[in-house]
Amino acid sequence: MEDRIQIFDTTLRDGEQSPGYSMNQEEKVKLALQLERLQVDVIEAGFPISSEGDFKTVKAISNEVQNCSVAGLCRTRKPDIQRAADALEKAAHPRIHTFIATSDIHMEHKLQKSRQQVLEYAVEAVEYASSLCEEVEFSAEDASRSDPEFLYEIFTEVINAGAKVINVPDTVGYALPWEFGELIRGIRENVPNIDQATISVHCHDDLGLAVANSLMAIRNGAQQIECTINGIGERAGNASLEEIVMAIQTRQQEFDHYTTINTKEIYPTSQLLTDVTGKQVQPNKAVVGENAFAHEAGIHQHGVLKNPMTYEIMTPQSVGINSNKIVLGKHSGRYALKERIKELKYKLNEDQIERVYQKFTKLCDDQKVVREDELIELVERVINQESDQKMNRTASESETTKSYSHQKVQ
Ligand SMILES: [Zn+2]
Repeated sequence: MEDRIQIFDTTLRDGEQSPGYSMNQEEKVKLALQLERLQVDVIEAGFPISSEGDFKTVKAISNEVQNCSVAGLCRTRKPDIQRAADALEKAAHPRIHTFIATSDIHMEHKLQKSRQQVLEYAVEAVEYASSLCEEVEFSAEDASRSDPEFLYEIFTEVINAGAKVINVPDTVGYALPWEFGELIRGIRENVPNIDQATISVHCHDDLGLAVANSLMAIRNGAQQIECTINGIGERAGNASLEEIVMAIQTRQQEFDHYTTINTKEIYPTSQLLTDVTGKQVQPNKAVVGENAFAHEAGIHQHGVLKNPMTYEIMTPQSVGINSNKIVLGKHSGRYALKERIKELKYKLNEDQIERVYQKFTKLCDDQKVVREDELIELVERVINQESDQKMNRTASESETTKSYSHQKVQ
């Protein structure tokens, strides 16, 4: 089994489909080039038949991106596939991604087709796509709610028809990790020609399990993970790229797998997406949230300042963030305060630090966090107070001397 996990990014397709995340062509090309720097394996650039804009964007991205595969999504209909192939014409590594639903509920209510018909559509689509493009991926939409026996059958047939990647989506975010792992293992064991294709998964986060399900899939034989930056996507979103990649990297020994993602580009990519869409990630978001590497509790701060590994399982630098953030607030202790004062290049003695600390705790009663400029003001006040006192002292000393000398003269 291939140890390398391929990262298929669908930020520009599934991610963009979510409310408030639409992007124009220029923005998408910019993001695609950043995804290339991040070194994802596949960029799903859009759904070319869905609109003229999507077609042009997939075309533009195909022209620009050199080092990743560029995928275009299409249903199993010939005009869809042709449109995707046209949009991908100039891509260095084009991939046609065709899909059809395989769960009884979707086949009956959405498609109004029988299993046999769906099977025929899938095979015809993959054959046609393979005649236009070497890399063809087939997705069984709503796979996690499909009859596994039907999945084995349809995957066997599409691989025979030329599919190089078979994708198993948990379209509605319904699967539980152990269940999903078993589904992947079942596919690996019951699809006789599975060695001719890569197993891919595409998980949604409706129950907050998209990343867990993806990781279970890896343990059971999946070699490609579909995911998005910041976990954006339909409804509750997709599996988040940064969480998957950092879980594999941080717990490498548990996985025996790796990705070729340049992790230092994770944060810049996340930032670019929030800049472009104007949508921030929540502060406690794993890996890229504002608080992901922030420490406020005094004990934690003391530990992190002595050795970051005490409370950090990965370094902020490894994901492209310059440093951890020691947040000064009411849970911070003297140690963190002292270190920050040192960082600000002030040299205070113990007594002065104690006075700053007293003022600092008073301020913390009124506000949650003390900003850097406020801390500087506190430090300056303590220093100035002292020099005032000194000056007063010197002044009154010379007064005394003066009056003494005066007395003396008298
Ligand atoms: Zn999706």
